[in-house]
Amino acid sequence: MIHVYNTLTHQKEIFKSIQPNLITMYVCGPTIYNYIHIGNARSAIAFDTIRRYFEFRGYEVNYVSNFTDVDDKIINRAHEEGVSEATITEKYAQAFENDTLPLNIKPATVRSKATEVIPDIISFVSELIAKGYAYEADGDVYFRARQFKGYGILAHQDLNELEAGASGRLDPEELAKKEDALDFAVWKSENRPGVISWDSPWGNGRPGWHIECSVMAQKYLGNTIDVHGGGIDLAFPHHTNEIAQSEARTGQTFVHYWLHNGFVNINDEKMSKSLGNFITLHDMLERYDDPMTIRYLLSTTQYRRPINYSEDTLTQARVELDRIRTAYRNLHFRMKDSKDGRNEAVESDINEYKKQFIAAMDDDFNTQNALAAIFELIALANTYSEAAIIQRDTAMLLLETMTALMQVFGIETLMPVEQLTVEQQSLLEQRVIARQNKDFSESDRIRDILKLQDIIVEDTAQGQRWHKA
Ligand SMILES: [Zn+2]
Repeated sequence: MIHVYNTLTHQKEIFKSIQPNLITMYVCGPTIYNYIHIGNARSAIAFDTIRRYFEFRGYEVNYVSNFTDVDDKIINRAHEEGVSEATITEKYAQAFENDTLPLNIKPATVRSKATEVIPDIISFVSELIAKGYAYEADGDVYFRARQFKGYGILAHQDLNELEAGASGRLDPEELAKKEDALDFAVWKSENRPGVISWDSPWGNGRPGWHIECSVMAQKYLGNTIDVHGGGIDLAFPHHTNEIAQSEARTGQTFVHYWLHNGFVNINDEKMSKSLGNFITLHDMLERYDDPMTIRYLLSTTQYRRPINYSEDTLTQARVELDRIRTAYRNLHFRMKDSKDGRNEAVESDINEYKKQFIAAMDDDFNTQNALAAIFELIALANTYSEAAIIQRDTAMLLLETMTALMQVFGIETLMPVEQLTVEQQSLLEQRVIARQNKDFSESDRIRDILKLQDIIVEDTAQGQRWHKA
């Protein structure tokens, strides 16, 4: 049974989906005016890992996420560069696809841009006005926060604290239009020439940020959804406002489980533009040759905990992942001289470690304990690889189990990706023949040639093995 920590109730709860085998999941996506930073990547990977675990446990997951493609930051960026908003958003939507692909982030079932659901947003806002939850003021439309019973519960702050916070962020012009400082915009008037806007019952304008997620979640997943995810910084005001809008419109619970991921720190400091330690995923991928190490680092830390990103943590991730890959490769190598049959003692250990993995992940996706179970499996694979006789069915079960568990973390394949040139393959074959002929000076000569090319050859009781240095 899966337990998840629900931000709304501040406790771990038994997870029960609305439909027996289907999970509806909405995760806030990025504002596409720049390359995504490592914090966005962490969020995408955290929820991809959770989605993969649900799928591993037999659920189908209907996963919806958004691109915020209308926003002040986008408008300002387009203005600075003298191009249209669409030029900016198309470029960075494409960059998101390109940069998340090498990290094995599964595509959303539906990924929608805010600008693709404008008619839905307008009718949603109209309903809020009709129900008395929203009001028009000089071309803007605001939501009456205090009218929604339970406003702010997700943030676990009382209304006075929220109001003090909200007042600090507002410009006086906007404050003058509002009935109450806590009210928030669901529609903003926009009449500047050349700036993107849509015709609406309240004049030209564009949606506020919060409304798009409420609209998309309900449009694609229904009035009540199982899981809503996002970074912990979104709990207030973004998710707080999503709950208010959505439940005001339908009178039904919007989300059963609110899951929030933690921050990424850079060298033990909070990442921020002002500290100059802001890292984009795009830069990371250019600097680092093994994207799976980045994936490993970001998906094997429990989603709610902070991740410290540094050269050291990245190196540590590489070492761990290589240990897993090497164990896989060595066992895979033994398959060719395996015998029919199975080893029941080894299989019972495999099943035990798999159970431990599941128990850990069932506990609010405790990846740290899940990894401990994987490393038990790796130790077992290493010992078994050294056995005089390998039973094919058992070796296959071990390889398949390692693969299936690592796929939950988004590591799809454990086979080495190293490629050999035709000449290198030929040298390896010549060396096997030289050893069969007991021509050891020739086999040493070939080994040295390969070593200069960073290919290390080892002779084992089961034959010649090689790996890249
Ligand atoms: Zn959102």
